[in-house]
Amino acid sequence: MIPITKPTIGEEEIAAAAEALRSGWVSQGPAVARFEQAFATYVGAQHACAVSNCTTALHLALLTVGVQPGDEVITVSHSFIATANSIRYCGGIPVFVDIDPATFNLDPTLIESAITERTKAILCVHQIGMPCDLPGILAIAARHKLPVIEDAACAIGSEICIDGRWERIGKPHGDIACFSFHPRKVMTTGEGGMLTTSNPDWDQQFRLLRQHCMNVADTTRHSSAQVVFESYPALGFNFRMTDIQAAIGCEQLKRLPEIVSRRRQLADRYRSLLAAVPRIELPVEPDWARGNWQSFCVRLGEGYDQRQVMQSMLDAGIATRRGIMCSHREPAYAAAVTWSCGAKKQCQCAVGHCQHLRRSEQAQDRTILLPLFPQMGIEEQDQVVSALHRAIL
Ligand SMILES: *Cc1c(COP(=O)(O)O)cnc(C)c1O
Repeated sequence: MIPITKPTIGEEEIAAAAEALRSGWVSQGPAVARFEQAFATYVGAQHACAVSNCTTALHLALLTVGVQPGDEVITVSHSFIATANSIRYCGGIPVFVDIDPATFNLDPTLIESAITERTKAILCVHQIGMPCDLPGILAIAARHKLPVIEDAACAIGSEICIDGRWERIGKPHGDIACFSFHPRKVMTTGEGGMLTTSNPDWDQQFRLLRQHCMNVADTTRHSSAQVVFESYPALGFNFRMTDIQAAIGCEQLKRLPEIVSRRRQLADRYRSLLAAVPRIELPVEPDWARGNWQSFCVRLGEGYDQRQVMQSMLDAGIATRRGIMCSHREPAYAAAVTWSCGAKKQCQCAVGHCQHLRRSEQAQDRTILLPLFPQMGIEEQDQVVSALHRAIL
């Protein structure tokens, strides 16, 4: 069986986790601080704050830029449901705009008509690790004085060319970028997330909110020669990462350049092998982007049944996944008040379908994700290609 993905975990990660366990400090502590420092250096950010996962990172980012009940946040439906959910956790309303069908990323030309007086932020996604059109999005955001949060859950190690310079996603280019370390992503800590920003006040805010808004951290109290009493000036959360996870993260970060370069090699090889397969469309990498290929997504031509193709590959021992979901089609979004589309007034958005999100729906229904992981051998990749070939004959 060839799985869809496999985390790359070695003896170094195992030793680091054991060391954290032996240290006597297992919750958020010195290893989290080390991981944050290493992560900030890797992406080129001024500040990095570790949290329990990317969903909580997105939640804190939205709260920090001031999203409140009734506020609108422009984003995509075509993403993992956590993107839209994080807006609803703040009481906000996700306003879904459609995607560019070639890159599966937010189409910046649709943003402006979705802006209203209630718009509070733009939450863009670097879908399956491919950078979205940040220059296009940032120009519109600047015109309307809207903060931009990047959902970079899948995009660690991806790069974008800005003003002729290649920079890593997470610098950040918007106001805040949020990352995930779930095993389905390119590096993992089991569960985990990170926020990066250039704004020191926001970084402070993340640190308070992730720890119940406790004004004196437990690590500070632990090392203090004087008795210190903490207080809780505002409502916070428990969104902490543990030192066990962070210790693993430090080792994963060291492996990352190798992981990303192997993924890029395999993606190039897929693209050349699959070029010969008729009636499938290959994923596009814009010339200003270098993706980490968190997933390799192919679009099936007219007339193919996605489920049948996937079943036939499963029968051949190859796991695939359907294209990225659309939140607006899920029962959790059945109530009209839970979201809107960029064309509100003209649209009678029905449950499970919206004519203004057609390209998002097609991307979900007509694409499949192929196995891609660094340990994948050439023979395994050949097997995937020939199984796909047979499945669509
Ligand atoms: C995985 C993912 C998330 C959620 O990340 P968790 O760490 O699992 O909370 C959010 N957004 C996108 C685009 C994702 O792919």
